[in-house]
Amino acid sequence: MKQPYYKYSQFLKNKYGEKTYKLPVNLPVTCPNRDGNLGYKGCYFCGEEGADFEMLSEQMSVKNQLLENKAYIGERYGIDNFIAYFQNYTNTYLELNQLKEYTKEAAAVDDIAAVYFSTRPDTVNKYYLEELQKTLAVVSSKTELAVELGLQTVNYKTLAAVNRQHGLAEFIDAVLTAKQLDIEVGVHLILNLPGDERADIIEAARILSALKVDHVKLHALYIRENSVYAAQLARGEIELCSLAEYQERVISFLENLDPGIAVQRLIGRAPEEGTIFLNWDLPWWEIHEDIIKKMKERKTEQGAKFNYLQGKALAKFN
Ligand code: SF4
Repeated sequence: MKQPYYKYSQFLKNKYGEKTYKLPVNLPVTCPNRDGNLGYKGCYFCGEEGADFEMLSEQMSVKNQLLENKAYIGERYGIDNFIAYFQNYTNTYLELNQLKEYTKEAAAVDDIAAVYFSTRPDTVNKYYLEELQKTLAVVSSKTELAVELGLQTVNYKTLAAVNRQHGLAEFIDAVLTAKQLDIEVGVHLILNLPGDERADIIEAARILSALKVDHVKLHALYIRENSVYAAQLARGEIELCSLAEYQERVISFLENLDPGIAVQRLIGRAPEEGTIFLNWDLPWWEIHEDIIKKMKERKTEQGAKFNYLQGKALAKFN
């Protein structure tokens, strides 16, 4: 059945000509917003364990994590093309030689088509990216480099309010730097951060479209019991939007997004244990299906409102 948005799985199929699966890798890294470089508190929604709840131990080598995940996924889904996905915390926040070693180790594993680094926008620069590209080229001429940038919101006031310690400018700089080097760019957004309105979400779709990023992953805010947000919620200092409002934000986002940008998820997942608010207590797939149903009923789709770039005001003369 045709989906009303460009699925990331299709993007991978178009790119590699076959089904491709991301294999998470857990590195022993931290984050400049937690180790004192930029601050100790972290983003107010960040749980202490980062994003590692469905990953293997960081004590295992990169190679062994990939081999173990590859054997399991490959057999279960009949897939033999993979992406090594450095997922947890801020994966480029390392001394360059160490980062190159991890990159080499990943690229040397058979059937790895790309190495993705999930990171903060203020933790990439041209020199690092060029060096990583060179490192990959030595090990495998076919393995590409990609970055997934955690932006979360384009509203710089919300970025400050969640203690993100970077603004929108750093994100734009990171995307332009990567694009200049022909590096694939993904972006992570949370569509319901307290303080954000639907207009912020629409502007996010427009900015990502103008920057021509390659893919985006959407999340609903979930609250870990050890996070600053958990304390703020208990004190009544923040409010969470309704599920219906979240779904409207996803639809508005998709309508404004360039139809050529792939979408990895419409809603995120998280461990139930230790989480005090997660997806309105509903399974993620139920929320996902409901969004699709609403879009089909309204006969709308990704890109339905993508008409604002390239001199919109000149259209009347054409
Ligand atoms: S940048 Fe990521 S890892 Fe660092 S504090 Fe924020 S959410 Fe946590």
